[in-house]
Amino acid sequence: MTHSGDVVSHSLDLAEEGCSATEIGRMLRLPRATVRDWLHGRAPRRGAPYPGLLGCAQCGGAHDFEGLPPAYVQLLGLYLGDGCLSAHPRGVFKLRISLDACYPGVMEECEDAMREVMPRSRLNRVSYCTWFELYSYSKSWPCLFPQHGPGKKHDRPIRLTAWQWRLVSKRPDRLLRGLLHSDGCRFRNTGRGGWSHPRYSFDNKSLDIRVIFCAACELLGLHWTTSANRTIYVSRKDDVALLDLFVGPKR
Ligand SMILES: [Zn+2]
Repeated sequence: MTHSGDVVSHSLDLAEEGCSATEIGRMLRLPRATVRDWLHGRAPRRGAPYPGLLGCAQCGGAHDFEGLPPAYVQLLGLYLGDGCLSAHPRGVFKLRISLDACYPGVMEECEDAMREVMPRSRLNRVSYCTWFELYSYSKSWPCLFPQHGPGKKHDRPIRLTAWQWRLVSKRPDRLLRGLLHSDGCRFRNTGRGGWSHPRYSFDNKSLDIRVIFCAACELLGLHWTTSANRTIYVSRKDDVALLDLFVGPKR
């Protein structure tokens, strides 16, 4: 059975206000299991049109941006780091994410995220010598990544939309994981006297993307510093320990 997007988003609103799946089911006359599915992010969404929700003017699909899973936030980080969209015939777009072949774990996670965000699209992988490219086609990619535009990301403004910020503010850890998996690393900083501390760095040509990285750090209370060039560091012991909980070294 399908339900209108209004009912889905109303259920999510009620859940945010603290209602349980049972209470929401009772109020909206819905099976509890259905509501529970929605609350766990299994709402009909992402291009799966359902009655009651107007089709997207751009792709014709129906979007529930606010209901996108945390995997979307990580994919957003990967997209901002090393992803791009290109237009193909009949309004179809190709999302490409380039990943270092040294880190098969990062690649697997990226594949999982792409599948979860766009389950109807076939995922493809092409291997080059030292790197991989993951790609999939959908008319909806530019709706999910409205940062798409002509030219390189560092040559144009990159701003997140309000709904993207809402998702990021719920899961800044996933954004940082995606950003650090693409354009960051954890390394050992050493100095005179033999001291040595782990440290994270993030490096992206786009000032806007660096600002997004720093904003996500601040959401988690992580202190960041910047060097004379375009690298951002997270170096304090407690902050590195926190990042280790949800990023860690790339695998
Ligand atoms: Zn759309």
